[in-house]
Amino acid sequence: SSSSKSSGPDSVMSEQNLKLYDGTDFPWSKDIEQHLKDSFHLSKFRLLQLRAINLTMSGKDLFLVMPTGRGKSLCYQLPAVCSKGFTLVITPLVSLMEDQMMYLKSINVSAVLMNASSSKEHTKTVMAGMTDMKAPFKLVYVTPEKIAKSKLLMSRLEKAYNACLLSRIAVDEVHCCNYKLLGILKRQFPKVPLLGLTATATSSVLKDCEKILCVPQPITITASFNRTNLYYEVVRIKDSDSNVSLSDIASLITSRYKDQSGIVYVFSQKDAELVSAELQKRDIHAYPYHANMNPEDKSRIHRKWASNKIKVVVATVAFGMGIDKFDVRFVIHHTISKSIENYYQESGRRDDNPADCIVYFAFSDIFRISTMVVMENVGQQKLLQMVDYCQNVDRCRRSLMAVHFDEVWDDKGCNQMCDNCRYAKDYSNVDITQHARQVVQIVELASSMDEKLTPLKLVETWMGKGPAKRRKMIQTTTLSRLEAETVIVQLLLQGYLSEDFSFTPYTTYFYMKLGRKASFLKNQSHTLRMKMRTKETGTAKCFFVSSLYYMSDPKVKTVVNNLQSTSAVKANDDKIDITFE
Ligand code: ADP
Ligand code: MG
Ligand code: ZN
Repeated sequence: SSSSKSSGPDSVMSEQNLKLYDGTDFPWSKDIEQHLKDSFHLSKFRLLQLRAINLTMSGKDLFLVMPTGRGKSLCYQLPAVCSKGFTLVITPLVSLMEDQMMYLKSINVSAVLMNASSSKEHTKTVMAGMTDMKAPFKLVYVTPEKIAKSKLLMSRLEKAYNACLLSRIAVDEVHCCNYKLLGILKRQFPKVPLLGLTATATSSVLKDCEKILCVPQPITITASFNRTNLYYEVVRIKDSDSNVSLSDIASLITSRYKDQSGIVYVFSQKDAELVSAELQKRDIHAYPYHANMNPEDKSRIHRKWASNKIKVVVATVAFGMGIDKFDVRFVIHHTISKSIENYYQESGRRDDNPADCIVYFAFSDIFRISTMVVMENVGQQKLLQMVDYCQNVDRCRRSLMAVHFDEVWDDKGCNQMCDNCRYAKDYSNVDITQHARQVVQIVELASSMDEKLTPLKLVETWMGKGPAKRRKMIQTTTLSRLEAETVIVQLLLQGYLSEDFSFTPYTTYFYMKLGRKASFLKNQSHTLRMKMRTKETGTAKCFFVSSLYYMSDPKVKTVVNNLQSTSAVKANDDKIDITFE
């Protein structure tokens, strides 16, 4: 599933030559193998770990690009233990640093850290240790700022370098731009191999890193971001129905994920409290986890979570970073992420065993998040890509993600591990031109009356919920709420509608206006089609019903399909409660 690629035409090493570094007959191989088992208590390497370790042990400068959770740290921690002197590790996040210290302590690998809050004494001890021939520690963790600002540290490193005690430099999260001042490292210590690690680098970012860090022609190895063990699914829910998603999530957790642990990501701290309370009401061991909790509660939940006493953590995405636990079997997004990159990271923080990534997609989430990211540089664009990921039933979810990592993943490589591949035959191509014209007419009318239309108001007006006077002036729709919302989202994604923000000092409002393509619809020959989930008979009446239920289980699918063919369900696609064991 994973593959490696060299960094480009100017890269010095071909894939064939890189393969030589997968071997186990290097002078250090026995030592590495032994420490893998005895110190790190791991039985074997994951893909590309050994190659990275052999390259850095050979003294090469290396950029290692691997998805989060795949095990980049081992690629410098293990070499550190097997080398003379110490490895300097530069990490931007103090919390991650502390996590690593805890971990290394637990496996008896000596490591120290220095950051802005280190005491004078501590700093003194660490500095002294750097030139101690007995090498009292194998790893020294520092922040980038420390390197940039502390002359004392630089002169100590210089001494260690001259005494051949600075064995390696690892720069974690190398894509972070605040590393501008780190060019000094390679200039001052040209003989020390540098290892840059990241999970989010595209080739252009990596080129920048090379320049900033002054590493000439590093070798780049990239693990594919395609996580073949993960099943991706999107569940469309109706806006008014946050309850549906909650009971749906709850029944998934108690049936399909019985006795397994997972994460539910939510939009806000308030949602974290709310959703975990709702899940608790349904007898699920769920606890909120967000930045605003007091430290004792946090560490209590962290501990219980780590020891599997808590089944589900309901976390805000901003705080998800701190909940590294790799045996989670499901990650459910109660609200969509703000970008595909974010979604990939949030859903991917786990081991290589099979697991599900499900996102609940509701119309109003788009606008909630939109007003939040409106000030970010490409915030809107990234959000709409995420919306497109959720809305699209035409292509493999994996291939929709891959483009964001400069990769191409073959649909065939999915192995039906996404809903779009698995249920492809349940979708059909629908003409939505007439619907589009109706929507555009409403938006035009509003604008001619100088009226601002929120997305919610647009749907409701289209569905005939507005004042009677208004209803006479427009064509209302026969589509269900969910279908109507889907069409509007499609029009937004395709540029027939666009967003219109208005700002007050306290809030940002989101309105709908005509997009650059709206006028195309005036042309009678212009048609607009989209792929939608339909039921087998092809009437687009209640095609979303099935998506409300988790259908990996063929038995459930049959039940749902049978239900769909009954008129009771056709007449009311609002709610069906099916429980299944
Ligand atoms: P990354 O930095 O790439 O996000 P980490 O280095 O934090 O990932 O490692 C993630 C998890 O994977 C850790 O719990 C680590 O112990 C585990 N891990 C790393 N290498 C292996 C391996 N070869 N076998 C099993 N688990 C591993
Ligand atoms: Mg890491
Ligand atoms: Zn697929």
